Amino acid sequence: MRQQYYMPTRVIMGKDCIKSNPDIFREIGNKVLIVTGASSARKNGSLDDVTSVLSSNGQTWTIFDRVPPNPSIACVREGAALAKKENVDSVIAIGGGSPMDAAKAINLLACQDISDDNLFSGQYGTEIMPMIFIPTTAGTGSEVTPYSILTNDRAQTKTSLASPILFPKYAFLDAGYMENMPIDITINTAIDALSHSIEGMLSKRANPITNSIAAESIRRISSCFDALKSGKLTLEQRFELLYGSTLAGMVIANTGTTAVHSMGYSLTYFHNVDHGRANGLILPTFLSYISKYDPGIVGSILSIMGYKSVQEFKDVLDGLLGERESLSREEVEKYAAIASKSKNASNSIVIPGMEDLTDILSVALLK
Ligand code: NAP
Ligand code: FE
Repeated sequence: MRQQYYMPTRVIMGKDCIKSNPDIFREIGNKVLIVTGASSARKNGSLDDVTSVLSSNGQTWTIFDRVPPNPSIACVREGAALAKKENVDSVIAIGGGSPMDAAKAINLLACQDISDDNLFSGQYGTEIMPMIFIPTTAGTGSEVTPYSILTNDRAQTKTSLASPILFPKYAFLDAGYMENMPIDITINTAIDALSHSIEGMLSKRANPITNSIAAESIRRISSCFDALKSGKLTLEQRFELLYGSTLAGMVIANTGTTAVHSMGYSLTYFHNVDHGRANGLILPTFLSYISKYDPGIVGSILSIMGYKSVQEFKDVLDGLLGERESLSREEVEKYAAIASKSKNASNSIVIPGMEDLTDILSVALLK
């Protein structure tokens, strides 16, 4: 199989990195569409930092702040209509994975005519506006991935648009925007990032480069487990989580995710469970399943975090996740069937069949 590593996004990081790099912002265009969530970017200072740089550069902007968690196709079509009406020539995303993913799809739909039938086909033209991404959660790594994950009501799950044209041109990492993030969002997003790196190591497409990056990401994120449990994080630890999540994004940009994400999507779609939490509820059981076939790779992943068994890892995650959601037998079977049809499920080194997926979901979540 072809092995490759591709990462076209230039990453700029550090305290106040937005205000110290106005030239990069000037470069992307004259009229910017800023895509963000309902309120957090206004509260954490990121939106002000961006607009003050744009203003001092003489650039103009329009704000689309109507992106909710788990954005829908209707949301990104609304954003694309605004981008066309305002004739923007560039896009800046500020926020968690939801506004970042929405920004990629808005950009694509503003530049190309794509029907709902072809939205997830990956068969797009080359037109796209330059993008700058500013993550304000440390979780999805969307600032360095070619994916935009949208709620897909037809398939009753979340589905990704994937294309190299969706890589942002620049990503700015400033952990200062996360200082007042509530602890539940901090934990759930950290677990998402951890899951990306672990799933990356379990992917058929893993290679020596992605494995090195994943190991470093797992080390950085797991070094913050105690702080996450205590609910108190220093700015340095916030940066560790942000850096770890961007590294994890670089991993999945090349490896993709696995059945953990496919099963997690049902918990989000049907039960509104936060994305990272959904992955965390399933990840240890998936590791146990893989270890039956490949104990070596699971042992290596656990040893990076300093654990000797999956149970030890599960105990720590359970301590962070608190009481688990539970599913009925019918729900388990329905979600296993949905996951079995997803691309991610066939992406791991051991491909779980329908029965395996049912077992994993039962062990993790059956009432
Ligand atoms: P999110 O849905 O973007 O945001 C969750 C909540 O966090 C929102 O209420 C948001 O508020 C708030 N928030 C954001 N930044 C904050 C801050 N600095 N301080 C306080 N609150 C803050 O959550 P997410 O976990 O980052 O993203 C999840 C989405 O990303 C899912 O749709 C998932 O499928 C997708 N995802 C994408 C990739 C990829 O490769 N593209 C990978 C994994 C997951 P506001 O709404 O007010 O901003
Ligand atoms: Fe994820």
